[in-house]
Amino acid sequence: MSEDLHNLYQDIILDHNKRPRHYGVLTDYTHTAEGYNPLCGDKITVFLIVEDTLIEAIQFEAACCAICKSSASMMTEVLTGKTLDEAESACQRVAELLSMDMDLTADLSKDGEIAALAGVRKFAARIKCATLPWHTYRSALDG
Ligand code: ZN
Repeated sequence: MSEDLHNLYQDIILDHNKRPRHYGVLTDYTHTAEGYNPLCGDKITVFLIVEDTLIEAIQFEAACCAICKSSASMMTEVLTGKTLDEAESACQRVAELLSMDMDLTADLSKDGEIAALAGVRKFAARIKCATLPWHTYRSALDG
């Protein structure tokens, strides 16, 4: 990864950490779940309003590190207005981007800001920080 790209990814993560989107308790939610990452101490609660197969709204509250908060913030932007199938594809793409085994190149133009999460791959201990929000989203759906 080039130095410029690395810096760009870092800027995206810092921006989401500083100004998390869709942050706070969502009233009238249809689904919710809490996630915990004991490796780092990250705690997150995800709230969803799902109508039929559409994610009408998604918000989160968290006491967590920058990577976790930023990943959660990106997740809420990506999943708002998506169908459950589209959301599942996005979850799988994030898992791919964070997979150590795959020599995948992330692409900002194709993946959008979640491409920045690929930068976390270098720090194996932090991968769970980035995946926690997405796992918690799935737990909320599963009830
Ligand atoms: Zn963390």
